[in-house]
Order: sequence, then C-alpha cells, then structure tokens
Amino acid sequence: MRVFAVFGNPISHSISPRLHNKAICDLGLNAVYTRICLENGSELIDRFKILKLSGANVTLPHKAYALELADIKSEMACKIGSANTLVLKDNKIYAHNTDAPGFLSAILPFGKIKTALILGAGGTAKAIAYALRESKIDVDLLNRSKDRFVDFAEFECFSYENFTPKPYDLIINSTSAGLNDENLPAPIEILSEIFSHSKFAFDVIYGRVTPFLDMSSRFGLTTKDGADMLLYQAVLALNLFYDNTLDLEKIKISMSKALYL
Ligand code: NDP
Repeated sequence: MRVFAVFGNPISHSISPRLHNKAICDLGLNAVYTRICLENGSELIDRFKILKLSGANVTLPHKAYALELADIKSEMACKIGSANTLVLKDNKIYAHNTDAPGFLSAILPFGKIKTALILGAGGTAKAIAYALRESKIDVDLLNRSKDRFVDFAEFECFSYENFTPKPYDLIINSTSAGLNDENLPAPIEILSEIFSHSKFAFDVIYGRVTPFLDMSSRFGLTTKDGADMLLYQAVLALNLFYDNTLDLEKIKISMSKALYL
C-alpha cells in the first residue's frame, strides 16, 4: 500500500485528505492519504523518508523548503520558488508545483484573458504570476507593502501610493484578506476604480463569499472563488504520484464530489 500525506502548520483545516482519499477509493488504488503537522520545515524530507511516503503535498509555511530540500526540481517549481508536491521515484524525491497549472485550469471558464492584476505578492501570487506570464497574459501586481517586490523582478509592481488604475480583464485576490476577516485586499477607492473597468474577478480563497468577491460581483464582474484551483492542483498532484498514468477526468469527478461532502 502506498502512503501519501500533506505537510503544513496548521494542517487540521486541510481538506486534501478528503479529496485524495475519495479519488484513491473511486479509482481502486491501493493507497491512503493522511495529514501531518510539521513545525520545522527543515525536517520535511527526513519525515517524508521516516514515514516511507510515496508522495506528499506541502502547504503553508513549508513550500519553499519543499523545493530547496528535494533532489530533483521541476523547472516550473524553480521559477516559482516553491513546490507543493513531492514524489518519490527511483529513490529520489522530485519537487513539482501544481498551484500554477491548477490556477490556469480554474480560470479557463472566463475565456480569453489578455491583462490581469494580482492583488498580493506572497507565495500564491508568485505561482499565479508565473502561470499567467507563461500564458502570455500581461500581469501587474499591487501589494500593501513593497518588501515582497524583490521576488517579482520580472513584473510591474505597484504599492497603493504609486498605482494608477487602468483597465484589466481579470483581477485576482491572492492575499489572505477575507480569509478569516471582513477585509478588502486593497483600499476601497482603488478597487472601485479597477472594478469599473474590468470583466472577471478571481479569489484564491474558497468556501466563502469574501468582501472582494462580494464587491466585484456588485460591480457586475463575473466571479469565481478558489475552490477549482484547490481541486485542480490536487488532481494534478495525485496524477504525479502515479507518474502521470491516471485518468485526470476520473480524478476530477471524484475529487469534485469530495469537495462538497
Ligand atoms: P503569503 O503569506 O505568502 O502572502 C500574503 C499576501 O497577502 C501578502 O501579499 C500580504 O501583503 C497580503 N495581505 C494579507 N493581509 C492583507 C490585508 N489585510 N490587506 C492587504 N493585503 C494583505 O500567503 P499565500 O500567498 O501563501 O496565501 C494567500 C492566500 O491564498 C491564502 O488565503 C491562502 O489560503 C490562499 N491559497 C489558496 C489556494 C487554492 O488552491 N485556492 C492555494 C494556496 C493558497 P503584505 O506583503 O503587505 O503583508
């Protein structure tokens, strides 16, 4: 039996075990997926080996360690600077990032996007910025503080003071504003101006109507929360655990059911 796990801290809220175990069950795979609270990210690979895992997902705050400590790193994970999926293959641990392709799959229903503004400049913003740029979409970033812009040297980055709103097809909230509070991810005046000239709004937060989603829909934008991004990154991760030999559509159907259990 193969054993998989998700590492993070905190981890009790993670629904990854629910998604993966449902797909494992429906696809008749001989495996189980659990969750592990890891305080010290530098112990990630040691724990992976001690537990004899075949694969793992990694979430906050250990995604950078996942990339750093893996034996072999995918080009995408290196460019993003973090990994959320570890796979054991031929005694080596491979690091991948499925957040970026997961995000691109999630925004497909919006149709053609040419320009996007990312609110936030954290780890998730990095994966999204990379994904959008690879899709030839013009990306700007707007963040509360300037400190994080060093990680986004290849992008136009603005703070509230020097931002001049312009029309964007897609606005993405990649901040944690609205996760456990009623905060908007940027000053309301800036958001009003942006929403007046945009078409789509995407929030990486899932499972609740955030103030960002609420406000953007009141401005008439088509909106989407982060549930599909979560779903698709998990679908891709399970397929990577099995060396890309599984049926993605079957995993998706199964995990979709688990998402709403
Ligand atoms: P980070 O801690 O790396 O970055 C957080 C970002 O949010 C920073 O840019 C920070 O700005 C900004 N921020 C936080 N609070 C506020 C606020 N009140 N107003 C404005 N900006 C704020 O977090 P991550 O990038 O890892 O995660 C961000 C979100 O993405 C989380 O809510 C997480 O749950 C979600 N997520 C969703 C996924 C999915 O599959 N749907 C996958 C991964 C993450 P500053 O630099 O000024 O501090």
